[in-house]
Amino acid sequence: MVFPVSDLRSALLVWCEHGGRHDIPWKQALDGSHVVDGEALDPYPIWVAEVMLQQTQLQVVLPYWRRWMHAFPTLERLAAADDHDVLLLWQGLGYYSRARRLRQGARQLLAASPGPDIFWPTDLQGWLALPGIGRSTAGGILSSAFDLPVAILDGNVKRVLARLIASPQPPARELAGFWRLSEQLLDPQRPRAFNQALMDLGATVCTPRNPSCGLCPWQGHCAAYAAGDPARYPVKDASRELPFQVIGVGVVLDGDGRVLIDQRLNEGLLGGLWEFPGGKQEPGEAITATIARELMEELAITVEVGEELISLEHAYSHKRLRFVVHLCRWLAGEPQPLACQQVRWVQPGELEAFPFPAANARIIAALLERLALADAAAGSAQAGGGAAAA
Ligand code: SF4
Repeated sequence: MVFPVSDLRSALLVWCEHGGRHDIPWKQALDGSHVVDGEALDPYPIWVAEVMLQQTQLQVVLPYWRRWMHAFPTLERLAAADDHDVLLLWQGLGYYSRARRLRQGARQLLAASPGPDIFWPTDLQGWLALPGIGRSTAGGILSSAFDLPVAILDGNVKRVLARLIASPQPPARELAGFWRLSEQLLDPQRPRAFNQALMDLGATVCTPRNPSCGLCPWQGHCAAYAAGDPARYPVKDASRELPFQVIGVGVVLDGDGRVLIDQRLNEGLLGGLWEFPGGKQEPGEAITATIARELMEELAITVEVGEELISLEHAYSHKRLRFVVHLCRWLAGEPQPLACQQVRWVQPGELEAFPFPAANARIIAALLERLALADAAAGSAQAGGGAAAA
């Protein structure tokens, strides 16, 4: 396909002057001023941001990025950080292996930099050799930090390009062609500005559901717009139903009011995070029986399963889960880490010091609320008893 490439580049760059996002902190010079073409930026904050942005939108990422940069302002500080602190700062962003890989990459870069200066890669191969870095993330870092002409292809860019050419295929089935198109369009004179403008266009104008084609600098060249139904693109594969599972979860309290938590193994989904114990419901099994069985199998403890605390659903990219959470009273057995790294009894007020997966934050909130209500009820019963006695 032949494109008026220079028209598309210049229209996009002109649009970005007034329509783009110019206050992204990691795209500015250290003193907060706007960076000029060709000027290098510190790659570390950009790398952190690009990894956070892999599965998450800018507005969500910003506070996480600020907290992270405050806690680990340099590569050396990140390399020296322990698992607990890294996961706690990532808590809520999901895809937690990204946090560990960032730290692993920091250690790798320091090990490869014998002198006081860090040896930052300035080519694709160098960045792809670091854990957790794919081609688009590498392109984002190289163009943002060093103004190098390396293309990107994140979700926003795929959507814009799919509409520009009204691609009849889902981007995932035509990746090589989409990469070629992104490379073809990239302005070699101003790669940083161009890639940023392309991402801004996807994030603010060519949005997933209601693209604002009236504001778009590429409207005159856009095949999806010309076809009359741009939101139909990118076309999707016929959707497949995600597997669904019910998970029974026990919030186990002992006689001192402590609650039992366990730390997942480092491998696999949510590795290294803390959680309330539980597991999958078997066919035909009552959820209370699931909880009692799982706690015996995984922790070797006997509990009395009490009332339901909360029930909630959470969707991952590959499955949907419903967590049915019951309060439990610990009866017998010293908890053993049979299927996890470690088990701990903690006071409910201490739970915020542990990194939990997002779904568990609602369980913790429900528990704290329930305990506060129980305290209030006990307090007023005491006051009532006192008043009656008086
Ligand atoms: Fe997206 Fe509409 Fe612009 Fe086409 S004209 S690129 S569909 S915003």
